[in-house]
Amino acid sequence: MQSQSRSTTYDVCIVGSGAGGGIAAYALTKAGARVALLEAGSMWDPIKDGAMLKWPYDSPRRGASTRERPFGEFDGCIGGWQIDGEPYTMAPGTRFDWWRARMLGGRTNHWGRISLRFGPYDFNRKSRDGLGDDWPISYDDVKPWYDEVDRVVGIFGSVEGLPNEPDGIFHPPPTPRCYERLASQAAKKLGLTVIPARLSIITKPHNGRAPCHYCGQCNRGCMTASNFSSTNVLIPPAQKTGRLTLITDAMAREVTLGRDGLANGVSYIDRKSGRDSHISARIVVLAASACETARLLLNSKSSTFPNGLANSSGTVGKYLTDTTGTDVSGFIPKMMDLPPHNEDGVGGMHIYMPWWLDNSKLDFPRGYHIETYGGRGVPGSGFMGGIHRYPKGGGYGAALKDDYRRYYGSSIGFSGRGEMIPNDDCYCEIDPNVVDQYGIPVLRFHWKWTDHEYNQVKHMQQTFRAIIAEMGGTVFSPMPTKEQGYGIANGGAIIHELGGARMGNDSKTSVVNANCQAHDVKNLFIADGAPFVSQADKNPTWTIMALSMRTSDYIAQQRKAGAL
Ligand SMILES: Cc1cc2nc3c(=O)[nH]c(=O)nc-3n(C[C@H](O)[C@H](O)[C@H](O)COP(=O)(O)OP(=O)(O)OC[C@H]3O[C@@H](n4cnc5c(N)ncnc54)[C@H](O)[C@@H]3O)c2cc1C
Ligand code: SF4
Repeated sequence: MQSQSRSTTYDVCIVGSGAGGGIAAYALTKAGARVALLEAGSMWDPIKDGAMLKWPYDSPRRGASTRERPFGEFDGCIGGWQIDGEPYTMAPGTRFDWWRARMLGGRTNHWGRISLRFGPYDFNRKSRDGLGDDWPISYDDVKPWYDEVDRVVGIFGSVEGLPNEPDGIFHPPPTPRCYERLASQAAKKLGLTVIPARLSIITKPHNGRAPCHYCGQCNRGCMTASNFSSTNVLIPPAQKTGRLTLITDAMAREVTLGRDGLANGVSYIDRKSGRDSHISARIVVLAASACETARLLLNSKSSTFPNGLANSSGTVGKYLTDTTGTDVSGFIPKMMDLPPHNEDGVGGMHIYMPWWLDNSKLDFPRGYHIETYGGRGVPGSGFMGGIHRYPKGGGYGAALKDDYRRYYGSSIGFSGRGEMIPNDDCYCEIDPNVVDQYGIPVLRFHWKWTDHEYNQVKHMQQTFRAIIAEMGGTVFSPMPTKEQGYGIANGGAIIHELGGARMGNDSKTSVVNANCQAHDVKNLFIADGAPFVSQADKNPTWTIMALSMRTSDYIAQQRKAGAL
């Protein structure tokens, strides 16, 4: 941890070093600002600290998950659904799962790197179907910033010209693997669209970084910096400017206000010493992740803002959404007993199935896309989901080993990722009775899916079952019933939580304006998923990054003009 001078007033203080905060640190230091970056987690160096190329037998646990690493011991992210000493609560009868990272770079150390632009329709859905709200900006406003993120970070994909799936500046995509080719054939027969995936992984040398060598272990981090994490792509160039002061193990408690009603810094707890500290800054950018940013605002109370900072509209914490999701997997006989062959590739899908239907003929609004998984990855803990699921699988000794060889690589799975509509029953607020280990009041979540989401997920289940049948396979689990919510994942479980400080032109119904600048406090900005007005069926991070790039440029222009 670099020591910070209490007497220094920084140009900008950014809270959070993940996708949004990393971009802001990169862009603002490049634009000449002296930036203090507060990060609640510890330092992390993907080259020294990552587990790339470790074998399962290198660990007595064979890579099984731990509380700190719920996605497996070799996973690149420290954090999880529960963090010791940092609880959150849920209103009785509701369920919301909140994934939080606690490390430099946040969740970008292990995210799936599916990097999709929102399309033109995604910014004005209310005008199209009357539900939710339109954004105050259009795709054309964000396009130059998506382009800039593509150029800085690097992404593979293919130019397709689809109306609501805008193309980017792509590196060549990897070719599909065997199971992806079979899935693609079956899906196309059923009328689905299948195109190469779009992931922020470089397949050519890019800005001094080596291309991917197809080890398939992206979730562990990447020692050659061939995939995107804030830690290996954004923080190092920001540090090179000499204008970044990185303060890790710094848990922000609240944004502080000056007598002029402007933000004048951030108070935080040094997690190592337990001491309270304060960073002074002329501009504050919150990028602690959507819900944590809402929590910071709600906890920043003053006589001017008794209900929380920038909350004159009363909408901080409201309009919370997550992606809808469900999964179906199955056994495909024609993929068993295959001769050994190399299925190496990137650590993620090589194909992508965008939304392909017309909602006017369906009983739910908006759409979903399909992610595909399977193949012959390195066996480890939980390998194949249990041999008993395969015909005649089980037993012991040589016959068991034979079964594993026979069935290895013969399963496939599909995940749906769809758009929910914001509703009044999904929000977070401060729990008046619970504080975390630092004494900071915690969030309480409220959640309720509606028939829009249930019907959409039912459609996902039916579609995935139809693709598996078309491949000649059998599904591992029965169709979930209506009472089981058709298998819908819990709110928050897809880890695409957005909203809580939404963007709008009207300060009575939104928290920030079209530049992600608080209506109530002109030197306070938000650079994570909190300003999102709607979800789209696209994974959100590329849009978080493009908006953060856009907001950072606005801040730089305003500083130049002497307005901030
Ligand atoms: C397993 C997994 C797979 C995913 N796959 C995809 C995908 O394929 N595509 C996609 O688009 N999205 C994906 N996501 C979601 C993606 O990771 C998030 O959308 C993205 O990281 C959000 O960026 P952020 O900057 O808002 O938050 P984060 O990346 O979480 O960063 C927030 C940072 O703020 C810090 N912080 C929090 N509170 C405080 C505080 N009070 N004080 C100081 N610091 C604080 C945290 O420690 C963290 O480092 C995935 C997520 C997970 C977990
Ligand atoms: S698959 Fe490529 S990008 Fe992913 S960890 Fe391996 S080398 Fe890095």
